[in-house]
Amino acid sequence: MTFENLGLSQKVIAAVEAVGYTEPTPIQAQAIPFAVDGRDVLGIAQTGTGKTASFVLPMLTRLERGRARARMPRSLIIEPTRELAAQVAAAFELYGSQHKLTVALLIGGVSFDEQNRKLDRGADVLIATPGRLLDHFQRGKLLLTGVEILVIDEADRMLDMGFIPDVERISKMLPPRRQTLFFSATMPPEIQRLADTFLNNPERIEATPPATAAGTIVQRLKFSSNDPAEKREALRELLRDLEVRNAILFCNRKRDVAILHKSLLKHGFDAAALHGDMDQHQRMATLDAFRGGNVSLLVASDVAARGLDIPDVSHIFNYDVPSQPEDYVHRIGRTGRAGREGFAAMLVTPEDGRAVKAITNMLGSEIEWIGDAPGRDAFESKRGRRPARGRGPRKSGAQGGGRPPQRQESAPAQSNGDVKKKRRRGKTKPNGEPQGSNQAKSPAKGGERVVGMGDHMPAFMKRSPRAS
Ligand code: AMP
Repeated sequence: MTFENLGLSQKVIAAVEAVGYTEPTPIQAQAIPFAVDGRDVLGIAQTGTGKTASFVLPMLTRLERGRARARMPRSLIIEPTRELAAQVAAAFELYGSQHKLTVALLIGGVSFDEQNRKLDRGADVLIATPGRLLDHFQRGKLLLTGVEILVIDEADRMLDMGFIPDVERISKMLPPRRQTLFFSATMPPEIQRLADTFLNNPERIEATPPATAAGTIVQRLKFSSNDPAEKREALRELLRDLEVRNAILFCNRKRDVAILHKSLLKHGFDAAALHGDMDQHQRMATLDAFRGGNVSLLVASDVAARGLDIPDVSHIFNYDVPSQPEDYVHRIGRTGRAGREGFAAMLVTPEDGRAVKAITNMLGSEIEWIGDAPGRDAFESKRGRRPARGRGPRKSGAQGGGRPPQRQESAPAQSNGDVKKKRRRGKTKPNGEPQGSNQAKSPAKGGERVVGMGDHMPAFMKRSPRAS
């Protein structure tokens, strides 16, 4: 299979050849002929499969005809994060080297003025995150009625980040007669519903079965104690034992990103950190340093690292086991890209038994251990679990033992101690119920409703207030 017989224009084929691609990846081979034809496409593919080119190349071909009008973009790509949006803009630059299309990037953290100027000039391609796009729209700077092609990328990430209502609002501003290309790594029911409403008789293309890891990634687990210092030492051991050229190290919480980063620097490793609190400029600078090989280890959280296109990461380290099995696939998808060999290792502590089981169930296969595999009794059972020092709400059971929180980064990280402190200080709600206590909301054992703290009123609450 070559790029010649997918229906792409000669200009696009020349650009792809100049980039050095010799044959299309499976998602490109399957999606491009339909997309070039103007059909709707539902692409189930994770990053690393070449999905960006699978929509950029046919868009370039289709946009060769026609011209953009001021404030009326001809195509719109919605991305969940600024980095992804910037990467797609870079892809247009790369593959569109033979075209004279105007690409406008509307992302937060950058001034409105320059973005307005681009819009005024008339954009052939508008790449945006949902929030900033709506901001521009509300300021009257944008008309979406001229959009001929809509791309929704990483739809499941948008869902995770709570962007679906925004995406639905945006879709209502678009003309119903348009082409829609919809991509998601996984297809949970909410995403299927969205796809059903957005797409018109789509061609469904599955580049990899949902939620499976690329076959070129060697995956390993390493058992470690819960103790943070010992866990960091276990990671350093891995870093020393494996031939790590460059790696992304994932933590579940941004606080741990900072701690691990500092510790790695202290131990002489060449590392940078990437977390959601950094501004756009800092994130881009860090990423550039990593991409350029000026720094070899990148400590990151899921939100900050979402969709990063770093072509040849030799290793992924999961310092923490992700609470959502899908996140595991997303994380390790940063290595073993486009057919290259990759290596992904994950540290597993006695508290992680269930989370690891959820991952192996989803993968449909076990992951090999480095060293001896721990016995069953090495893992804490959920009920008998002792609250661990310095662990997040999920581990401490503060979430009530239900489904772990979706985005740990967006919920401020709290150690078990913090949660306790907050409850003790307990600001009260108007009804006198301490905030943070949900006992009044849920029926207690035996169906009786317990109000406030029930019998367990702490002594300080019984003390009479001191007059000021
Ligand atoms: P993506 O899944 O779009 O993030 O792409 C992953 C990586 O694959 C990017 O670094 C692309 O530059 C690269 N890539 C995309 N298409 C091809 C291709 N046909 N041959 C080789 N590499 C490709």
